Amino acid sequence: MKFEVTVKMQELRELYGGICQKCGSSKNLQFAHIKPTSLLGYGRGMKNRYYDIKNNKSCYALLCYQCHRRFDKLNDMWKNKNPSKTYKHSFEEFLNDF
Ligand SMILES: [Zn+2]
Repeated sequence: MKFEVTVKMQELRELYGGICQKCGSSKNLQFAHIKPTSLLGYGRGMKNRYYDIKNNKSCYALLCYQCHRRFDKLNDMWKNKNPSKTYKHSFEEFLNDF
């Protein structure tokens, strides 16, 4: 049977509560790195992404597009085109409002 990655990703989203963990939106949800994993960065394929999220739950948060951008920006994640592996602000700080 084919690995239905879109179905699997949907299951993951539901597991994470199905809404943005920052603002509660249910639109444009994405998984954001909140701690580095070996899979940091663009691409790498949905399937790899899925397993990385599934196996490193404490390293990801479900955020909407806007909150994801805010969190990455807060941490200058893409300053050097490659994602930073150090975080200036923790996800907890972000939730407590920045
Ligand atoms: Zn949000």
